[in-house]
Amino acid sequence: MKTGRPTPTVERLQRAVQHVQGEIRWGEPLSRILSLQVGGPADVLVVPSDVEDVIRVIQGARSEQIPFVVLGGTNVVVRDKGIRGIVMQLKQLTRIQEEDNQVVYAQAGVRLPRLMQFASGRNLSGMEWAAGIPGTVGGGVVMNAGTRLGEMKDVLSAVDFVNLRGQRVRLNAKDLSFTYRKTMLPKGIVVGAWVQLTLSTGEEVEAKTKTYLQYRRATQPLTLPNAGSVFKNPPGDSAGRLIEAAGLKGARVGDAEVSTKHANFIVNRGTATAAQVLSLIRKVRQTVARKFGVRLQLEWKIIGET
Ligand SMILES: Cc1cc2nc3c(=O)[nH]c(=O)nc-3n(C[C@H](O)[C@H](O)[C@H](O)COP(=O)(O)OP(=O)(O)OC[C@H]3O[C@@H](n4cnc5c(N)ncnc54)[C@H](O)[C@@H]3O)c2cc1C
Repeated sequence: MKTGRPTPTVERLQRAVQHVQGEIRWGEPLSRILSLQVGGPADVLVVPSDVEDVIRVIQGARSEQIPFVVLGGTNVVVRDKGIRGIVMQLKQLTRIQEEDNQVVYAQAGVRLPRLMQFASGRNLSGMEWAAGIPGTVGGGVVMNAGTRLGEMKDVLSAVDFVNLRGQRVRLNAKDLSFTYRKTMLPKGIVVGAWVQLTLSTGEEVEAKTKTYLQYRRATQPLTLPNAGSVFKNPPGDSAGRLIEAAGLKGARVGDAEVSTKHANFIVNRGTATAAQVLSLIRKVRQTVARKFGVRLQLEWKIIGET
């Protein structure tokens, strides 16, 4: 989440991260951490060592008026000029544990398939929809990730959250509102989530998961860099169907291509830039609007300097 403050100087950036204990990388190309493999550098990439370190980053950013954003990196495009300020990756926040009454707590950096596997290993059902969704628990909460078979809001019981003052609070899911691929949250960082699952048999959970994964492999271009569905499905229709019907499968700008396997995916054929990806998005939107009168809404988050 950005704080929307002025462009930071190197000195202010250095002061903002001076107490951080985790890894700090200056000028890190974000194409290295985004699943689509495009995007310019972050002024500074921080990998906090634990939740206290996340709080240190927030407090440092606040006192120096530096914008920050958290990235798992699987539903995002960063523009080619990169991101001014601090980018955080929560990949050290990987604790996961079973609590009472089929509740599982997972820190924000846990990948959704790992949470799904953890649950199925304990005969807990409810996370099967997450099979093959490569994002983190934090990103999954923010995006209300899901499929037609289920979504985060169906299982989320509470969010472990750090607000912009650096205070750690528990947000009960019943007090939040959710829409298609969006959870209304205050400004701040998700550091963990509690999910309420139900007891099942290991075989049932495994069978469901296997079916979902097979479906994904058959229908999605998983062997090429991508960032999941580009557009939200318009009410009563599917973005992929509209794009395909507009004759756009295989359309290219440079190395950015509308997947020939699933039209609502854009893949990186090798050396695509964010500018090429964005230009292809414009072309798809314009063509679909002209042919069908439907204005496709982005599911992807587009961030970074223009
Ligand atoms: C092959 C493939 C298949 C996919 N299939 C699906 C699918 O079926 N369903 C689906 O919903 N998605 C799907 N996705 C997209 C993606 O995995 C999900 O949207 C996921 O929830 C995003 O998680 P992320 O950690 O990568 O977040 P990002 O994509 O990095 O971030 C998404 C937004 O959340 C914010 N954010 C991330 N983490 C935090 C945090 N801890 N605190 C505060 N803000 C945060 C970011 O700043 C950004 O605004 C797919 C992606 C790929 C590559």
